[in-house]
Amino acid sequence: MKDLEEYAKKNKIPIMQKDGILYLINYIKENNIENILEIGSAIGYSSIMMASINKNIKVTTIEKDTVRYLEAVSNIQKYNLNKQIKIINKDATEVEINDKFDLIFIDASKGKNTFFFNKFKDNLNKNGTIITDNLSFHGLVEDESLIKTKNQRGIVNKIKDFKSFLDNNEEFKTIYIPSGDTLAISKRRDENE
Ligand code: SAH
Ligand code: MG
Repeated sequence: MKDLEEYAKKNKIPIMQKDGILYLINYIKENNIENILEIGSAIGYSSIMMASINKNIKVTTIEKDTVRYLEAVSNIQKYNLNKQIKIINKDATEVEINDKFDLIFIDASKGKNTFFFNKFKDNLNKNGTIITDNLSFHGLVEDESLIKTKNQRGIVNKIKDFKSFLDNNEEFKTIYIPSGDTLAISKRRDENE
């Protein structure tokens, strides 16, 4: 996978950070996760990493950018994972999916996290998990003095809104894991909670 990591770095494609992907892989193994929905494929790095864990894992991943989608298709072929990874070239806000998943991984535009969370939560199996990436936005969420541009300010505000949506959510309970760019791990609350 070094080739994809280097390619992403050179071309400024925001693939998951090493610690984040390692946490995700470990979470999938420990919870025997098999069916995964990913929002935001980019060049296929995280879906390839997840599908490579074992042959029973199936990933459906959505990418709206056609250039990245085509790169992902070619990478998935290169790693012989066509049978395990299904990639959809569409804007995820417009995709209707009926399947159920053990894990939904949200890693697309940061301003749409709440929208994607609400849109796809009914595609989750009973004990399923929603994991969202980039809750820290390279530390800018925790230390706002690092914010340099209007664009960054906008993204930080959107992430803060999403965090308060999660923190006040009656249906799901969320913990934050400071691996990579910080992951939010959300699970349905027990009925008696
Ligand atoms: N998960 C990937 C990185 C994804 S980067 C990895 O770790 O390897 C985020 C990607 O989400 C970008 O390629 C961007 O084009 C895509 N994206 C952003 N908004 C989207 C949307 N509404 N629907 C589908 N894809 C989207
Ligand atoms: Mg990310």
